Amino acid sequence: MSNDDGASQGGRRWYHFIPLCFAVLIILSPHPSLIVLLTSFQLQTLNSPLLFVTHILVIYSLTFMAYSSLIVCVVRDPGPVGPPPAADEDSEETTLTDALRSIKAADDDYDKPGRWCRRCWAPKPERAHHCSICDRCVLKMDHHCPWMGGRCIGHRTYPSFVHFIFTTTMLSVYVAGVAISALYYIIKHPYELGETVPLHVLLLVVLGGAFTLMMGSFAGYHAYLISTNQTTIEHLSPFLLLRFLPEPLPPPSRTANNQTLTAEQQDSPYYFPSPVEPRPPWVPQEHELSYKQRRMVQRAHEKLRMYDLGFKRNWAAIFGVPELSGKRNHARWKLWAARILWGGGAALGDGRTFPANPRADSQLAELAMKLYGEDDQRPRDSSASSDA
Ligand SMILES: [Zn+2]
Ligand SMILES: [Zn+2]
Repeated sequence: MSNDDGASQGGRRWYHFIPLCFAVLIILSPHPSLIVLLTSFQLQTLNSPLLFVTHILVIYSLTFMAYSSLIVCVVRDPGPVGPPPAADEDSEETTLTDALRSIKAADDDYDKPGRWCRRCWAPKPERAHHCSICDRCVLKMDHHCPWMGGRCIGHRTYPSFVHFIFTTTMLSVYVAGVAISALYYIIKHPYELGETVPLHVLLLVVLGGAFTLMMGSFAGYHAYLISTNQTTIEHLSPFLLLRFLPEPLPPPSRTANNQTLTAEQQDSPYYFPSPVEPRPPWVPQEHELSYKQRRMVQRAHEKLRMYDLGFKRNWAAIFGVPELSGKRNHARWKLWAARILWGGGAALGDGRTFPANPRADSQLAELAMKLYGEDDQRPRDSSASSDA
């Protein structure tokens, strides 16, 4: 057992780190060509030490920023779920009554769908998900990332992850820009830079261009997710909305066997309709929905953002910059600067509860009424499989 623990680290084995080593090497890969280009083009041909120093400063600052946030993503726990917070943490001795009371205070809706993890057999806080690869629950899980040493990206590492993507995108854009300007010079003044420099320049143009497209599209996607306060999982799984549906459960409008009574039956003193079965509380599950209901949920999901607090507040919440009173605005700007420079901060809050979009309740109620209304149209005995 101890051998096994030694071979892996937190459940990770050595081969989980191969993509990470690859990522580290990819970031380093343009540097030899960059040094050749900067010394022979900016320094010797253009004779501009200022340009040389500026490029070196920008490129190595961005590289440092990328590595600093990469280290945070690999080393920091993305979001341990742990036990639910106790009602009174100060008292050292806890009686059985206190313990039961604290569970009751904390487990307000753990019997709701998605609030209890059957794999960890533990409460699953809001926005937490069970990662099947890490085999654990992660607070506000975004996705499992093989490039980050086979770890999840969660509440505590998402700001660093985004910082990493944004800085590597900027690095790619900058490298491509420097290389394209050199390529333009080479086209205008052929043979001036020797034989090898153009090859380095071409390599940098290709690498810079490819990574600008790849990391840029990734950065654009995460900028959209941050602006709407969604995780990757929430954006890709519209049916997670079902967990938040209120339970309006309109009274059943039918008799048990789905028949409406004729006028004769209603008047007859000898006719006893079979009793109306009360409908059990129904929070629909994805597999129970008909095709039409699934489309309703997907369409609602395009507009319904559970945690959207507005553009500015979403970005501040994810980068861990709290709202400060008016006079402390400069402190807020310092925090923003720190977050932009070296990332590494945590998002706001404890990762267990999140302020909700004030419009979400009415949108959810509207969706629930549509779903339940559609369900009323369906024969009661039909199963989801017959609709599929
Ligand atoms: Zn779990
Ligand atoms: Zn994972």
